[in-house]
Amino acid sequence: MTPEMETRKIDETPDAGTAIKSVRVFSSGWADQHEEHRFGTSLPQLWWVLMSRSWVRTPINYFLIEHRDGLVLFDTGLDPAIKTDPHYVSSALGRFLLRRIFRLHIDADDRLDRVLAANNYSAGDIGTAVISHLHFDHVGGIARIPQAQLIVSAREWAQLSEPHPEREWILREHIEIPDAKWCPIDFQPADDPLLEPFGGTYDVAGDGSMVLLPTPGHTPGSLSMLVRAQCWSPVLLVGDLAYEASLLMNDTLPGTGNPKQLRATYSKVRQLKQKLPDLVIVPSHDADAERALWLAQPGQSRD
Ligand SMILES: [Zn+2]
Repeated sequence: MTPEMETRKIDETPDAGTAIKSVRVFSSGWADQHEEHRFGTSLPQLWWVLMSRSWVRTPINYFLIEHRDGLVLFDTGLDPAIKTDPHYVSSALGRFLLRRIFRLHIDADDRLDRVLAANNYSAGDIGTAVISHLHFDHVGGIARIPQAQLIVSAREWAQLSEPHPEREWILREHIEIPDAKWCPIDFQPADDPLLEPFGGTYDVAGDGSMVLLPTPGHTPGSLSMLVRAQCWSPVLLVGDLAYEASLLMNDTLPGTGNPKQLRATYSKVRQLKQKLPDLVIVPSHDADAERALWLAQPGQSRD
């Protein structure tokens, strides 16, 4: 990072400098997905879902940010009940397709509260969870944090009112649960020229340290979170916008999502990376997430 960039970053986020203590990645197990799913293909989706025999293993990650005001999650992972409850996915067609899209490797210890406890955190201390999108592998832990405010984009939330959200892998019965404190948010016009191309922002803590950006493509209401702290490389948690950072950088689209939206969002993220060369892009299913976050911390060399 050049001294010039360091100055600009702190000027633009005057209160953010020391607000973030750590960003950590945790996992609720692993999944195998088809290569066509992860790296894209010209073949029709139904073909590779039913016919592909090539699998690639991917983590099911979520992130914990220690902010001076409290603990914030970015996504909540997968609920191990998906393996033990035969009707976790209520529709028979859904269960049939799930087995052909993912092979899940998750056990009881991968439940959100148990993973946090194993790392000396309490699920009861989570104040806020930002949900990148409503797919079942990102909302699986919300039942373990009933006290937390659950932030989701209003556009993503609107999918629950559209016909058959379960066909988009949005499982209403695991989202609209008693005690869940959902807070659908609208993005506000960006006052930071750096973020203007995204068309709106939402400042989670009001200090510029955790800024949400609309990043549609994987789902229409997907969002990303830009985490900024003094002396750290800025970190962009992108959810499932891409399955690996390198795929986003070389414009390789996955086998799902809206290609036009994905391309437009990829371009905006690459523009941001041009303006912030140290930006560390971290997708939720990237096996390199832990290393990428470690390298973003002060004092680590990225060579
Ligand atoms: Zn996912």
